[in-house]
Order: sequence, then structure tokens, then C-alpha cells
Amino acid sequence: MDKLDCIVIGAGVIGLAVARVMAMSGREVFILEATEGIGNEASSRNSEVIHAGIYYLPGSLKAKLCVRGKQLLYQYCAERGINYERIGKIIVASDEGEVQDLERLRSQAKQNGVDDLVLLTGKGADSLEPELNCAAGLLSPSTGIIDSHSLMEEFLADSKDSGAELVLGTKVEGGRILDDGIVLEVGGSEPMTVLCRTVINCGGIHASDVAHSIEGISDGSIPPSFMCKGSYFALSGSAPFEHLIYPIPDEGGLGIHLTFDLAGKVRFGPDTEWVDSVDYAVDPGRASAFSDSIRRYWPGLSDTGLNPDYSGIRAKIVGPDEEAADFMIQGSETHGIAGLVNLYGIESPGLTASMAIAEEVVKLAGVVET
Ligand SMILES: Cc1cc2nc3c(=O)[nH]c(=O)nc-3n(C[C@H](O)[C@H](O)[C@H](O)COP(=O)(O)OP(=O)(O)OC[C@H]3O[C@@H](n4cnc5c(N)ncnc54)[C@H](O)[C@@H]3O)c2cc1C
Repeated sequence: MDKLDCIVIGAGVIGLAVARVMAMSGREVFILEATEGIGNEASSRNSEVIHAGIYYLPGSLKAKLCVRGKQLLYQYCAERGINYERIGKIIVASDEGEVQDLERLRSQAKQNGVDDLVLLTGKGADSLEPELNCAAGLLSPSTGIIDSHSLMEEFLADSKDSGAELVLGTKVEGGRILDDGIVLEVGGSEPMTVLCRTVINCGGIHASDVAHSIEGISDGSIPPSFMCKGSYFALSGSAPFEHLIYPIPDEGGLGIHLTFDLAGKVRFGPDTEWVDSVDYAVDPGRASAFSDSIRRYWPGLSDTGLNPDYSGIRAKIVGPDEEAADFMIQGSETHGIAGLVNLYGIESPGLTASMAIAEEVVKLAGVVET
């Protein structure tokens, strides 16, 4: 059996961020990716928004890692010339009944260390965005957009510069825990069995399945896994907005918001649809529900403005009607297995938090002193 130092399972933004830090700390790293490319799942199927850190419970990993990750990400993008824009966003209360939600979000954000939010009256919002229907708004100047693919390419380049190897088309099929390491059964065109000192499971929506396939990880430590699809519609033509526009968040997601990509293309989404299997097709029939949501904050949306675009699937560890869960990042203190870190429920703001999550993982893996 081949002996390897460290395997990162999954080449999404989280696996690549982790591999980068591991490799830069001197570890021999192999990134095993089931598909034929990097970032083929959630990491290329999201809103590409750098979140400020507003929505998450104070003290949660989501709150801490989003705020830390945002700082790291802006700095990294600036240093490396990765395309991004600190465009800012407005969260909209469409009627008086929602104004208290803005107050609650502002106070929560402050506890998370986000103290640059500005409460806007309807008039104040109107002066920034005249087409907006808005009883009141919350302006977040530190929210931005990013070219997530370039970010992943850069993480990969750093990893490779420090000696890491990416192996595509290579699915981890199972494994077992031994006294002297973790055995993985690896599929693909050259199946093999490897013994590793460290394994980091960054399998996204498959992370719980990956953990279940490794004998010796107690079932009790593995959270249930649910999938919540989010579809996007693109706008034909341009929208008369300068900022990202978000409604008050709803159950399962942040509400159907308006975002731009860095080329200026406008898209709306994601909505929420709990699914049992992976199917990324966007149902054109969802357009009317989109129109209804969007018109609450943008009554000027034309009847023919929306075209089905793409979708992504959120990795959830709680089901519909349950309270939102935090990121779950488990090291040996939780499951008792030295050298193993499992990451579950890495939904939004995972892209924003990626570099901070990587810092957390290397601590749990015992790579750096805590
Ligand atoms: C609709 C939507 C909108 C979002 N919007 C935002 C946003 O605007 N801002 C933000 O910060 N975050 C956002 N997120 C969250 C963000 O996209 C994710 O947190 C992040 O992409 C998760 O990255 P990941 O590497 O964990 O997962 P993934 O990108 O899904 O990568 C997991 C990888 O593991 C591989 N894999 C799985 N099983 C195996 C196996 N057995 N062997 C080998 N490889 C395997 C998969 O092929 C995949 O490539 C959004 C997510 C969704 C779904």
C-alpha cells in the first residue's frame, strides 16, 4: 500500500483553500477530485458575493469565519490581481412591517464586528437607487463580488508552487481507520489503496457520504445531509441599479436577490427548493414566482425580463423547517480520529469564508499550533 502524507478530498474552493495552506506549511499534499475539473459543484454555482457577515448568529463559526474570511479575501484579491469589486449592497424592507428586521440585522451585524452598516430611510434609499421600492434600507458598503474561478485557480497555483498535486477524475470510494493512519480506497482510471497521515474531507454536498464510507468514523459524529437547490434567472438587458439588492432573508436562503457578475450581467436568485438528487436544470416555470419576489423591490421589472440561467445546491445539515445550522468542522476532539478533519454544511458564506476556514482546518489537523 502506498503511503502518503496528506489527502484533501474535493477540489472546490474549500478543498483548494485548505490544500494551499497545508502545502505552504510544508506538508506533502494530494488533492483528489471526483470530477474532471476544479470547482465543478457549489463553488461555481453560487452568487459570487463576498458577504459582509450580517446574517449569522454572533459567536457562530459562520459569523467569525465570514468576517475574517472577507478581510483575507479582499487582501488576497488585491495582492494577486484577482478580479473583484467592493460594490456594496442594500437590504430592502419593502414595507413598514419589515423595517424592524433591518434593525435586528444591523444590531446582529454589529455584534459580529460589522459596524459600517448604514440605515437608510425610504427617501435615502431612493436617492441611491431611484427605481427601488423601499420603505427603508440597510446599506452594507463592504459587500462585494468576486471572480470565484480565478480565486480557485490562484489557490491551486499556490498549492502547486508548494508541491501539492491535483488528481482529477479520482473519487474516494471508501476507507478505514487504522492505528497508524487512515486508509483510503481511491477509484478513477488507476484505482489504488493509500495510507495517509492526514485526511481533510471537503466533499461539499457529498461530505457526509464520504465520511460514512470510511469504516471507523462513528455514525453518531456524522450529521444528516440535505440538499437545497437554488436556481438563478438572468435579466435580459441591464438593470438600473448600482448596488446589489437583497430582500429580507427567508427560510433556507437570503431571498431572491439581484447581483451582478464582474462583466455587469444581472442575475436574480437563488430561490430555495429541497431536492433528493442532483439535477442542475433550471425549471422555466419558476419565473413567475421570481417575478413576484423581485417586483416587491423592483416594480419596474418587465414581463419578459427573466431567462433561466443556472443553479447550485446548498450543502445543508438540517432539513426544511429546522433552525439554520452553523458550519460543522470536526477534528479529533469530536470524532476521536487523529489526522482527520470533516467539513459539513459548508453552505453560504463558504466562498467568502474559504481562507478563514482553511486556517481553522489546519489548526484542527494539528498542522499549526493553536
Ligand atoms: C446557490 C448558492 C449560492 C451561494 N452563494 C454564495 C455567495 O454569494 N457567497 C458565498 O460566500 N458563498 C456562497 N455560497 C456557498 C459557497 O458556494 C460554498 O460554501 C462553497 O462553494 C463550498 O465549497 P466546497 O469546496 O465545500 O464544495 P464544492 O464546491 O461543492 O466542492 C466539493 C468537491 O468535492 C468533490 N467530491 C465530492 N465527493 C468526492 C469524493 N468522494 N472523492 C473526490 N472528490 C469528491 C466534488 O466533486 C466537488 O468538486 C453559495 C452556495 C450556493 C449553493
